[in-house]
Amino acid sequence: MSILIKGARIITQNANREMLKGDILIEGNKIAAIGKELPKEEVEEVLEGKGKLVFPGLVNTHTHVAMGLLRGYGEGLPLHRWLEEKIWPAEKKMTSEDVYWGTMLGTIEMIKSGTTCFNEMYMFGIKHMADAVIETGMRAVLGKGVYDTPKGRDKESEMKELKHKVEEVNGMNSRVQVAVAAHSVYTCSEELLKDAKAFANEEGLQFHMHVSETREEVFNLLKEKKMRPVEYLDSIGLVDEKSVFAHLGWVTKREISLVGKAGATVANCPVSNLKLATGGICPVAEFFDAGANVTLATDGAASNNSLDMFETMKFSHLLQTHKYWDPQKVDMDRLWDAATINGAKGMGINAGSIEKGKLADFVFVDAKAVNLAPLHSDWRSIIYSINPGNVTDVIVDGKFVLKEGKITLVDEEKVLEKATEVAHDLVNR
Ligand SMILES: [Zn+2]
Repeated sequence: MSILIKGARIITQNANREMLKGDILIEGNKIAAIGKELPKEEVEEVLEGKGKLVFPGLVNTHTHVAMGLLRGYGEGLPLHRWLEEKIWPAEKKMTSEDVYWGTMLGTIEMIKSGTTCFNEMYMFGIKHMADAVIETGMRAVLGKGVYDTPKGRDKESEMKELKHKVEEVNGMNSRVQVAVAAHSVYTCSEELLKDAKAFANEEGLQFHMHVSETREEVFNLLKEKKMRPVEYLDSIGLVDEKSVFAHLGWVTKREISLVGKAGATVANCPVSNLKLATGGICPVAEFFDAGANVTLATDGAASNNSLDMFETMKFSHLLQTHKYWDPQKVDMDRLWDAATINGAKGMGINAGSIEKGKLADFVFVDAKAVNLAPLHSDWRSIIYSINPGNVTDVIVDGKFVLKEGKITLVDEEKVLEKATEVAHDLVNR
């Protein structure tokens, strides 16, 4: 399959941060050429790009996508009551079929808001998630979650299940990558963390974890191990460039430096942190300066309440601006990197910029939308004003998954109806 996009305004996200006006040729699942007036003979599909802004698909590096079924459930409660009274009891009753419909719903929401890849962590249902990702045309890194300290769980069965699921899902589709997701330092024993990481290393998989989300987590670990979370993870060999750490809201300078030196990935989840009142703001500027691979994420839709990465970009920048009393502390160029090329790097995929040879994952936006007018010259000017309603088309792996505002590969209405039905059934079960 070949597609030619004619005359669009392109935010390339290449090393020189070029903005171009021109054509993009896609052959198969890759970008074959970028240039002016590329020949349209022998191309199977031509899309008029005039009036559109094209940029690399956004990468959401920390999600629990099936939790979209619990969006708005238990709204307004403090974190522990929200988890203990609402979320955990509902999740206990969740079936793999629920996870499938939750993933279908979340994936459609992400596509419609310009995301082309997400990094998932969920304790079960990974095979059903993979089915949903494959059907909708999305790209994802699906982390099989493990944890063993709560009653009724043990390391041996966690590792056995992990290996089984990785084997089952690996190779289902080139758009689906499997990862190891250890829930957190407070739900995983040291032995499980070490074994899970060793397994990830053997298989060459990303290692995904919640780290330093709350002050309580830090204080409890200090009491138990005399170390802070990142120091502890470093002491057992878990901090490296294949590690993706979500939150990092409560960290010291030493921890920032450990993450930076290792080139590990930071998944900054500003909206979730604000909603759950965790108090700590991830020091994004300092992580950038230390050399960490800083990325952006929504977390699950239950704690957000959306999977909208445009909103996340805006909140992330606003929080840093507010924290440092300085709108330039995190340059907007870096914010774009976090949402695109750094996200792709953290996932180990060859995407995140519009360049020859890269995977064809990108987003089209209506450049004439009223909320973007008058569209000043560069990409910095859209971060605070763009919203999902501006997305017109999305290409993942060289195929349209959204065209002229319509989801192409699945029936959106049916998904919405079915997901709503299973969500209501789940909370009343
Ligand atoms: Zn999370």
